[in-house]
Amino acid sequence: MRRTVLFALMLMALLSFTAMAQRGEVNYTPKQTEFRTITLPQAQAVTLRLYEAGLGGKAYKTVKMKGKKSADHTLWSATVKGNLNGKFYTFEVTQGGKKLGECAGVFARAVGVNGQRGAVIDFAATNPDGWSRDVRPAIAWSDLVLYEMHHRDFSIDPSGGFAHPGKFLALTEPRALRHLQELGVNAVHILPSFDYASVDETRLDTPQYNWGYDPVNYNVPEGGYSTDPYRPEVRVREFKQMVKALHDAGIKVILDVVYNHTFDIAGSNFQKMMPDYFYRKTADGNYSNGSGCGNETASEREFVRAYIVESVKYWVEEYHIDGFRFDLMGVHDIATMNAVRRELPSDIFIYGEGWSAGGCAIPNEELGMKANISRMPGIAAFSDEIRDGLRGPWDGDDKAAFLGRVKGNEESVKYGIVGGIKHPQVDLKKVNYTDEAWATEPTQLIAYVSCHDDMCLVDRLKASIPGITTDELIRLDLLAQTAVFTSQGVPFMLSGEEMLRDKKGVHNSYNSPDDINHLDWNNLTKYPQVMAYYKGLIALRKHHPAFHMGNAQEIVNKLEFIESTDLTVAYKLKNHAGGDSWNTIYVVLNANTEPRVLAVDDGHYTIVCCDGVIDENGLETIDGTQVIIPAQSALIMHD
Ligand code: CA
Repeated sequence: MRRTVLFALMLMALLSFTAMAQRGEVNYTPKQTEFRTITLPQAQAVTLRLYEAGLGGKAYKTVKMKGKKSADHTLWSATVKGNLNGKFYTFEVTQGGKKLGECAGVFARAVGVNGQRGAVIDFAATNPDGWSRDVRPAIAWSDLVLYEMHHRDFSIDPSGGFAHPGKFLALTEPRALRHLQELGVNAVHILPSFDYASVDETRLDTPQYNWGYDPVNYNVPEGGYSTDPYRPEVRVREFKQMVKALHDAGIKVILDVVYNHTFDIAGSNFQKMMPDYFYRKTADGNYSNGSGCGNETASEREFVRAYIVESVKYWVEEYHIDGFRFDLMGVHDIATMNAVRRELPSDIFIYGEGWSAGGCAIPNEELGMKANISRMPGIAAFSDEIRDGLRGPWDGDDKAAFLGRVKGNEESVKYGIVGGIKHPQVDLKKVNYTDEAWATEPTQLIAYVSCHDDMCLVDRLKASIPGITTDELIRLDLLAQTAVFTSQGVPFMLSGEEMLRDKKGVHNSYNSPDDINHLDWNNLTKYPQVMAYYKGLIALRKHHPAFHMGNAQEIVNKLEFIESTDLTVAYKLKNHAGGDSWNTIYVVLNANTEPRVLAVDDGHYTIVCCDGVIDENGLETIDGTQVIIPAQSALIMHD
């Protein structure tokens, strides 16, 4: 009986919290605005302050909020008469006789400059033309081609000719949309675009750069990417304009979300509203640091889990977001990731980094680690197996692998090619980082060779292959991406690789200046063969379901590896794999500096990819029982 009552009370608390998260902390009408927030039950008071500006000046009104206390939380509310559109507010909690400092609360949906104060805006007025008709493009997970980008990298350099360099709006410009469409990617994964701390929005005329993995307000777009961070409705509208323009171009928008840690503890909204509730501690009472950024959130706690679930749902509902990339997913517990999956529409694509950056305060078996992906159906993880099998291990930029002719990496590349599922011809004992096939379905593996972290592909090739020539660099770049884009997993590329970007050898460019991080659009004309190849490769994948069968059993049945010499990986896709119009397709990756000969079934073949050139209609035809694969390149042909 007592347990039932206790359970009912806990459920009520969760329902209150969820309702709060769903409605937000501001209920605006032109006649009055109701403010709400939630604290731990030990909070003694919450003060609401209203301001004319998002920063500076004194509160023009101070209101004591009314608390409704329950067993494990207190709901606070206050109603202020009059039209508050355009005003700003803060909450301040008093707990243990101490004032914890003003903040925008944890549920703010609009904020002033630098996210220090919440803002009252009329959300209905933030929708761009046609927003009510905007829908998420229908693209199956197995058909996705992901393009990871940073707003500033992409459009800041004058060579790009953007009217809104470094802003959300750059992605509404024809220049950007044409490029993405021409390349053929169908989902942009935008690096943190919620409000983060490390760019000072009050001095945007000074160049400032950060990736943005330092969250402040989780449910508000970043002000630094808007044309006016002082006017809270502008970033909301411009973010929606960006989503709409991309959707109109048939491109999905995937948000990089960073719920695993906050910029700091003391200054965070979580800490100021619900001290210590959102953070894990170690057995000795210190804050645990599984994120490597000084703290880790406690997703296993009911309010934190509900917070994450409601936050992603909010981005889907208000901003029409198509998917989420969970930063350090290995810091979150499995139950939370499964709750996120369950609560989001089934077309939303979810993937994450299946690792943490340090030990967490709960056991690895309970965390969203790559090894536990089979317990998280419908969620994908990055494959460091194929990445490092191609470019070399993460612990040394000068170390090479398959691309740099280090033997013994073939099996790791093969593991990525099958999409991480159990395949009888992949010898897991020889795969670099796993002894188990961790993906149940190929759409649970993200295939890639580079991302914003670590060196980009060009820099890594230069660092790991001393004396590499530009010709060799290009050959190996194209070879690497052929492995990625013919993988049965979900292919992923770092923005700018298609224009042979480099970051001047900088390994961790999270706060490097523009001249390190920017894309140089002149490279498109300097290295036209690179863009042409990427474009051809992506088109080939999209037009041929054999390269993305999307089903583990079909891959086992139809993808057959062929015995080949060292530093080559060869396989065929047979019997109209995945319903393909081509009967048999051969794919051969040759990392050797000499041509290699491969024995094939006697037949008449059309070569569509050879020696760094792709033409889906055929480059040449051959007959017989063998094919020659030129040095450091890929060959694809069909019968
Ligand atoms: Ca910010």
